[in-house]
Amino acid sequence: MNNLLSERINSMQESATLKMAKISRELRSQGHDVIDLSIGEPDFDTPQHIKDAAKKAIDEGYTHYTPVPGYPELRKAIAAKLKRDNNIDYTFDQIVVSTGAKQSIANVVLSLVNKGEEVLLPAPYWVSYSAIADLAEGKSIEIPTTIDTNFKITAAELEKHITPKTKLIIFSSPCNPTGAVYSFDEMKSLAEMLVRHPNVFVICDEIYEYINYTGQPNVSLASFPEVKNQVITVNGFSKGFAMTGWRVGYIAAPLWIAQACDKMQGQITSGTCSIAQKAAETAVSTDLTPTYNMVKEFRKRRDMVYELLTAIPNLKVNLPEGAFYFFFDVSAYFGKSYNGQTVNNPEDMSAYLLNEAKIGLVNGEAFGDSRCIRLSYAASEEKLREVCKRLKDALAKLS
Ligand code: PMP
Ligand code: GLU
Repeated sequence: MNNLLSERINSMQESATLKMAKISRELRSQGHDVIDLSIGEPDFDTPQHIKDAAKKAIDEGYTHYTPVPGYPELRKAIAAKLKRDNNIDYTFDQIVVSTGAKQSIANVVLSLVNKGEEVLLPAPYWVSYSAIADLAEGKSIEIPTTIDTNFKITAAELEKHITPKTKLIIFSSPCNPTGAVYSFDEMKSLAEMLVRHPNVFVICDEIYEYINYTGQPNVSLASFPEVKNQVITVNGFSKGFAMTGWRVGYIAAPLWIAQACDKMQGQITSGTCSIAQKAAETAVSTDLTPTYNMVKEFRKRRDMVYELLTAIPNLKVNLPEGAFYFFFDVSAYFGKSYNGQTVNNPEDMSAYLLNEAKIGLVNGEAFGDSRCIRLSYAASEEKLREVCKRLKDALAKLS
């Protein structure tokens, strides 16, 4: 029946992260001992005081439709947070709360990008950026970076790809999938370059802002006043507050873009869940101790997994500075086989590792990279040790 579906959906790729998580879940339900490190979500529970705020919200009757861009008190609390943590002045009407940062990004791209306009994606990039750009009929332009430069792009490289058709640049820092974190100087040089291109807009996705091991505060592109009017800051509650299932994300943007996103969302989903919004209000305005405790734990795991991965022959691994992913180069194994399975690319590799080692990792091609695969270390130490052991054994069989 696919011929009855729209070209739009037929040409869309399924989200590779969600697909791998689904396959792993299905295999587990059939009794296979699969360890899934595909999906990026904290394995911690939402902090108790946030859960309590949600329960209170139900009891207090926050059960109706909310204003489309979110409750004013939540938007004001987010504006205060952006001042506190990011040193950016936004008024509450510049904030639009959505059903996750994924929807926030879709709202912005659908509001800004016309058919054929170019969307620059420094690669590797998060899987859904390109799918959303395609949905808007924009033209995704991938700009490769490599593990040798810790997958960071320079302002000069990025500028080379700006043409009169460029509308939007999308990137994340800390980055999913690479864990790269742009320093103050790197972000500043991006800002200085962007000033020369006032018709180019940038989505700066900061959803991993707290999961940063550099010891330096997160740097927001919009904190450079000269480019604030070109930047849409995206953030959300999924990662920093272990609230993936609550579905709350937001943008902070020039007012005209915020108003467009409000209009877009008003026709598609309306405001996100009232109860989740009240929980988010508590999360964003209270003490970050639970977040920092979680980050401490992620850091320990990162160091452990780094040691284990670097002990595996022929992998090229860098030390990520943020988020909770390793994105490592497995290309030395391409062309090798075991038991009738040949591995020629990252997709073959993730299929081989799922079949042979029963581990769920995501193929780098989905992130615009043809050499790497992604491992999420948002899992227990025990699982991480076991995955690294299985990975080592399965790779050793390839010849
Ligand atoms: N941006 C990045 C870089 C992500 O990794 C994710 C996945 N959580 C999102 C946005 C979307 O997050 P959510 O929709 O859960 O807020
Ligand atoms: N962002 C997470 C990831 O990259 C969650 C899954 C998704 O929405 O893509 O795994």
